[in-house]
Amino acid sequence: MSSQEQRKRLKEYYRECSQIHAAWAERHYQYPPPKTKPFPPDLIGLECGAKTRAGTPCKQKSTYANGRCKWHGGCSTGAKTLEGKKRSALNGFCPKTKRSHSTR
Ligand SMILES: [Zn+2]
Repeated sequence: MSSQEQRKRLKEYYRECSQIHAAWAERHYQYPPPKTKPFPPDLIGLECGAKTRAGTPCKQKSTYANGRCKWHGGCSTGAKTLEGKKRSALNGFCPKTKRSHSTR
């Protein structure tokens, strides 16, 4: 199996787990917590595989849910919700006192 197919299966696995977790959050985290599928053993140690500046594939094995490492996961795409966009707009151009995370 190619690493591209493995990465696709890894994303699918994390997507299923996040759906299970979201359903549990809807139940207000009732005890007992839901059981998730065991991590597929053939995906353990999956390398990032992104092309590095040297032209070789990245060999990092600590990957995120997108199948890439901390250096090759891509930039944040910014706030998604309207509330988050408003909060980030506040942080951008206003003095410290108007910041959303201000402690005062
Ligand atoms: Zn990488």
